[in-house]
Amino acid sequence: MRHVAVIGSGPAGYYTAEGLARLFGDAVRVDIIDRSPAPYGLIRSGVAPDHQSIKAVSRRYEATAMGENVRFMGNVDVGRDVTVPELMALYDAVVLATGAPADKPLGVPGDDLPGVIGSAAFVGWYNGHPDFAALAPLLDGEDAVIVGAGNVALDVARILAKTRDEFAGSDIAAHALDRLDTHGVRRVTILARRGPHQIAMTPKELGELAHLSRAAPTVDADDLPAVETDATLEPGVRKSVALLRRFATLAAAKPITLAFDFFAAPVRVEGDGRVERIMVERTRLTASSGAEATGETYTLPASLIVSCIGYRTPPIAGVPYDAKLGRFSNVDGRVASGLYAAGWARRGPTGTIGTNRPDGFLIADHIAADTVADSGKAGRVGLDALLSARGVDVVTFRDWQRIDRAEVARARNGSPREVHGRGRDAGRAGLIARAGRANGDCLAVVNASGRHSPGSGNSSAW
Ligand code: NAP
Repeated sequence: MRHVAVIGSGPAGYYTAEGLARLFGDAVRVDIIDRSPAPYGLIRSGVAPDHQSIKAVSRRYEATAMGENVRFMGNVDVGRDVTVPELMALYDAVVLATGAPADKPLGVPGDDLPGVIGSAAFVGWYNGHPDFAALAPLLDGEDAVIVGAGNVALDVARILAKTRDEFAGSDIAAHALDRLDTHGVRRVTILARRGPHQIAMTPKELGELAHLSRAAPTVDADDLPAVETDATLEPGVRKSVALLRRFATLAAAKPITLAFDFFAAPVRVEGDGRVERIMVERTRLTASSGAEATGETYTLPASLIVSCIGYRTPPIAGVPYDAKLGRFSNVDGRVASGLYAAGWARRGPTGTIGTNRPDGFLIADHIAADTVADSGKAGRVGLDALLSARGVDVVTFRDWQRIDRAEVARARNGSPREVHGRGRDAGRAGLIARAGRANGDCLAVVNASGRHSPGSGNSSAW
């Protein structure tokens, strides 16, 4: 028998567990630990609510979770309820699969003004993540500015643009839907510090902007490089650039404009008590396709700024950490003897959900190579004793299935679920209060006890 603890129940955590189950069958016990009472991390709290086909991957994780040898342990905060060294003493291997749930700071003067938010917070808000239910983004003005040219920027632009009807079939949080339905935003500017050839947006997601009922994308044709140069691009980027070329020919005749502003880097955020405008500097490409400042600046009105410039993995005390890269220090997933990192916690916030599959399998292979069976470690029996002695109220997978059923039952018409922790519930003080376990009712889930402090180790929300 081998005993493995996986910290974080998002894609990287579940793919690691799947890899271990494939390798060892019944000769392994995997405990997937998460500070949230609900599993699936990024799938639940990061993937856009109107991208249900991507969220459906959680069914694959459910199959892994239902195996005898894999166990979900929600509501357990690594760093507070149990430490990484304690887990390492109990298990043959410990895998850090904590994702990258913290925003990379924008890092310009004024970025702390009310109305400037990071995408982790904004995405968490509309996905009903309890840490961000009280965010109240400033949606009263007409001008929203999005910084960054990746898929998260696209998600945020699309969510700001959609009508209530267009959210049919999504599981967007009711509190967000109500606010978005009545917002005053009329112009969304997407600031890209480099050019069309350097965008990180993928074509399928970019193409969605052309099919919104009240919003239309615009691109300044002067920003587009000579069409012949597109031939040098990797096929996915070439498709995205072809879409941008099409956007440049569209007449923006819809109430909301989604304007791409290329070669534009934020310099300073200004406003009296809240964001009112953003100063931007024109850039040009360097020989190596980097961005260099030209000295030419201009100002855009901004009532809301959402910074979509990437994420970081929060450090965990005692775990080697690369502050520059914002992830755990590791060599090919190995952090220290018996300690591994998988997914975004290993390689940073890049790639698709599926990228985490080979990543998780690689860590399973490492564990197979580095550990021996029957080492004498206590594994889950030891952790259960420790958590019980500390009074930690562990949420099991069976408990989660009750939450799941309750969320599905209280979904508004046409929606797959209404996430607990959203709306009024999420503002209530108290810990994850578990009600009705005996009679099979849902677990009433609420945030704000301190047990689930934002930024603690094992949040797998992105
Ligand atoms: P990303 O793809 O790395 O894009 C980040 C963007 O921010 C880049 O355009 C980057 O520009 C820009 N940026 C970084 N620092 C900046 C700064 N200081 N000032 C101005 N701009 C800055 O990251 P992401 O959008 O957060 O996405 C993370 C991952 O999740 C990606 O792999 C993405 O594809 C994936 N994702 C997928 C979906 C989907 O629907 N398929 C949805 C969301 C996310 P430079 O290129 O110049 O650095």
